[in-house]
Amino acid sequence: MAEEVSKVFDTILVLDFGSQYSHLITRRLREFNIYAEMLPCTQKISELSWKPKGVILSGGPYSVYEDGAPHVDHDVFALDVPILGICYGMQELAWINGKQVARGEKREYGPATLNVVDKVSPLFQGVDHSRVWMSHGDKLHGLPTGFKVIATSDNSPYCGISHESKPIYGIQFHPEVTHSTHGKILLKNFAVDLCHAQQNWTMENFIDTEIQRIRNLVGPTAEVIGAVSGGVDSTVASKLMTEAIGDRFHALLVDNGVLRLNEAAMVKETLGDGLGINLTVVDASEEFLSKLKGVADPEKKRKIIGNTFIHVFEREAAKIKPRDGKDIEFLLQGTLYPDVIESISFKGPSQTIKTHHNVGGLLEDMKLKLIEPLRELFKDEVRHLGELLGIPHDLVWRHPFPGPGIAIRVLGEVTPSQVQIARMADHIYIEEIKRAGLYHKIAQAFACLLPVKSVGVMGDQRTYEQVIALRAIETSDFMTADWFPFEHDFLKRVASRIVNEVDGVARVTYDITSKPPATVEWE
Ligand code: GLN
Repeated sequence: MAEEVSKVFDTILVLDFGSQYSHLITRRLREFNIYAEMLPCTQKISELSWKPKGVILSGGPYSVYEDGAPHVDHDVFALDVPILGICYGMQELAWINGKQVARGEKREYGPATLNVVDKVSPLFQGVDHSRVWMSHGDKLHGLPTGFKVIATSDNSPYCGISHESKPIYGIQFHPEVTHSTHGKILLKNFAVDLCHAQQNWTMENFIDTEIQRIRNLVGPTAEVIGAVSGGVDSTVASKLMTEAIGDRFHALLVDNGVLRLNEAAMVKETLGDGLGINLTVVDASEEFLSKLKGVADPEKKRKIIGNTFIHVFEREAAKIKPRDGKDIEFLLQGTLYPDVIESISFKGPSQTIKTHHNVGGLLEDMKLKLIEPLRELFKDEVRHLGELLGIPHDLVWRHPFPGPGIAIRVLGEVTPSQVQIARMADHIYIEEIKRAGLYHKIAQAFACLLPVKSVGVMGDQRTYEQVIALRAIETSDFMTADWFPFEHDFLKRVASRIVNEVDGVARVTYDITSKPPATVEWE
């Protein structure tokens, strides 16, 4: 799939040597409309079905001189396109051209000031004297054969090097991290001025290419099925399918009984009526809730929901009869690029591929072929795409919601009345967040129902009821997160509304734990 995008858009190939920042190189390039694709450093160049406009060798945790260190396929030089080595990538270029790499006396981690020696170097236009970010322990101990120094820093005499006659560059620092203040300009200089890549990677262009690609793939008669959840990814993927093949795409919303308040009705209205997606809503709430009865263990709850979902989906899908009388052939999946990166990034010999439990099961049982139109996209690109496809702003910018839904926000046993309490409290909380204009400042917010009772007093009567915990986090990537600093008046208002309006709640608390050590969800 990625190959086809790379055939249409000028592409910079990022070969990943395992750095934790590799995917950021791809991101930064796309931010100025250049398509970039990351592949593991072990990629054989002869096996590529497209030709990159330039190649970037990423950083990595290994040392080029150690046994078993990963090395680039030398055919990359025969491509005759510009090459940029970053940190390990530069050390790799040096290793290939004279082996002058060894452990430095001390590690260099943190900021340094870039001092450009070759003032006319296209790579460094507009970046001289800027702050660059270092993270290395190995060093070049001499110039690689055929190279010259084009930049230095206080600690690195070989902070930037380039080949005397070919467009091959190496830099010791990491331009892809935001701590390198002008790093983005440097990457743009490389891609645009040196590689001459066109800046045409826009979501407008992607829509056209992707619709055409889906049509070719599915053909004139086959039909496609996909699950929708009310979330951004599945909605955008479904809308794109509908644009491509109309009602030969069937969307299925399984109401598992642990969705948010009025969710099924909202999805029907927005996706079905509003966006014209061929949608079937199946109410399986009783089936899910009866299976969850008596189960308090979070992992068991997740498994039950996952398995029941597969079961219900298969059963309901079998009721859909394609017009050509054949079976449904494809399953739509809203996989995003970060999941793809996770599965292809270079992790050495112990590389593991993550598979999605639900999809794997469905593909096997139903003999379906997978179709993943968002596979090349980052989340912000998906949102932009969603806006262009006319999906309502509120849906496009919705907070993420976990697959097992409210079942993992009702701690302990999940019963219909517990779900209702959690659902009502959550609804009030989110409503107040929106009213206060805070929804888009928060990455994720929700209410949890705790399995404890607490004494209270209401109207002179003793009460003995449950506790709601509120959570709201700020984060850019969900890997680490901090709790959101609400004004006290806001918390006061929410707490008072929840206790007054939701039967069964006597007390409200606010979760002030960051991630790590806590996770975003409570279960
Ligand atoms: N492992 C190499 C070093 O320590 C490269 C580090 C990197 O690419 N960030 O120098």
